[in-house]
Amino acid sequence: MVKHIVAVDKCRGCGKCVDICSLELWELVDTDDGKKIAEVIEEAAEICHTCMACRDTCPEEAITIINEDE
Ligand code: SF4
Ligand code: SF4
Repeated sequence: MVKHIVAVDKCRGCGKCVDICSLELWELVDTDDGKKIAEVIEEAAEICHTCMACRDTCPEEAITIINEDE
């Protein structure tokens, strides 16, 4: 299982994580206060191969990935 954690106070909804994930595991969602933030789709916990591209591309360093199998 892989956990994807987005620091919502850092994410500014730029979509770079969405664009870079070859498995298309990220999407942008609307928040109650009219912003967009990144979220992984539900299946991401099982499918993600922990390439870390999303984490490394995020200009805000908002993404943390924890591989619980390691
Ligand atoms: S790359 Fe970072 S700042 Fe941009 S949408 Fe993804 S988590 Fe948010
Ligand atoms: S670590 Fe790689 S496969 Fe997993 S969500 Fe990020 S970009 Fe996608």
